Amino acid sequence: MCDKCFSEQIESFRSKEDFEKFDLELTMKIANEKSIKMGKFVNTAWKDIGYQIYICKICKQQWKLSAPDTSGKGYFLQLK
Ligand SMILES: [Zn+2]
Repeated sequence: MCDKCFSEQIESFRSKEDFEKFDLELTMKIANEKSIKMGKFVNTAWKDIGYQIYICKICKQQWKLSAPDTSGKGYFLQLK
């Protein structure tokens, strides 16, 4: 990880507002700073437990994002 992507993982979003704030920050990094690109979309047979991969163009760190929904609070974690 580096300061162009994110400095820490989010094990679980605290609230919907917390996620929305994060989502906005992520969108800015993709659209404006272009420091992060979206990786391949990963989905399982169960649509609602799918997640998305994002890759930092600077440090090559891969991040796994799951948006909060009825099945959980969502997370943003580093992929090893
Ligand atoms: Zn990075």
